[in-house]
Amino acid sequence: MRLLEAGPIARRIKNSLAKEISDFKIRPVLATIQVGDNPGCDSYIKAQKKESSALGIECQLHKLSQVITEKDLSGLIQRLNQDKHVNGIVVMFPLPVHIDHKKISSILSPQKDIEGVSLSNLGSLIVGDALILPTTTAAVMQLLEVTGIDLYGKEVVIVGHSRIVGKPLALMLLEKFATVAVCHIATSEKGNLAKHVERAQVLISAVGRAGLIKGKWIKEGAVVIDVGINRANGKIVGDVEFEEAAKRASWITPVPGGVGPLTVMMLLRNLVEAAKIQRKK
Ligand code: NAD
Repeated sequence: MRLLEAGPIARRIKNSLAKEISDFKIRPVLATIQVGDNPGCDSYIKAQKKESSALGIECQLHKLSQVITEKDLSGLIQRLNQDKHVNGIVVMFPLPVHIDHKKISSILSPQKDIEGVSLSNLGSLIVGDALILPTTTAAVMQLLEVTGIDLYGKEVVIVGHSRIVGKPLALMLLEKFATVAVCHIATSEKGNLAKHVERAQVLISAVGRAGLIKGKWIKEGAVVIDVGINRANGKIVGDVEFEEAAKRASWITPVPGGVGPLTVMMLLRNLVEAAKIQRKK
């Protein structure tokens, strides 16, 4: 088994971003909008700030009240869309239930949507020419590249069908001609999850449930990518039973240290790309 860690790849990308920022003489500006308090969001924002400051990227945090209206939030996004100083906008999800997340995703300027979650960017994945790739899916694709696996005709099973991870990942893997199955809550409820996971040559889990994927289900030699982030017994763990799965997998991501650190780097890579494109206009 080989450990599929983000560290070396993240460092390589960071070095190339530092070079691009210096070569193009840009000082990218990232605006992050956080509505209400969410400890999960806090750690992601902290990681954004840490990596950005090392690269000379300016971070603006717009921390808004939980009771902000949809109209006021939309107004702020429209202003940031227009602000020539701002190169990328991140809206932290989930938003409070009184705010329509689809509406918010639809007003985000596709050129500044550096998480690739706007309706326009997600929609363009269908035709295989997305302007900006969703960050977590881009991180997973980078990790798969490191394993050297040829995805053509491979049995790939994704567990989790969210708008920002499972669904875009399925589209990107189809572009590589993988045979993709997407499992979700109903697969589990009908008792079919083990059956699907057992035949996966590549397994990607993005659910958010510790120990959901039993180690004994992992096919011998499979590549296992665990996107899940869960707190269990005071520790951060993924969705997959790591110890048992590691005995069977050819490659497996640790949690923490697998997908997470690479996601932040993909965000900054998208920001630098956006800043370069906007400067040309
Ligand atoms: P989500 O809540 O939007 O979607 C969860 C998915 O899991 C849904 O498709 C749901 O049907 C499925 N699901 C729920 N219970 C299930 C079960 N028992 N069996 C099978 N499927 C089940 O979640 P999300 O936003 O996609 O995030 C998923 C996980 O990935 C979370 O732990 C989140 O913290 C993590 N995450 C990590 C990163 C990263 O960079 N590492 C980025 C995004 C999300």
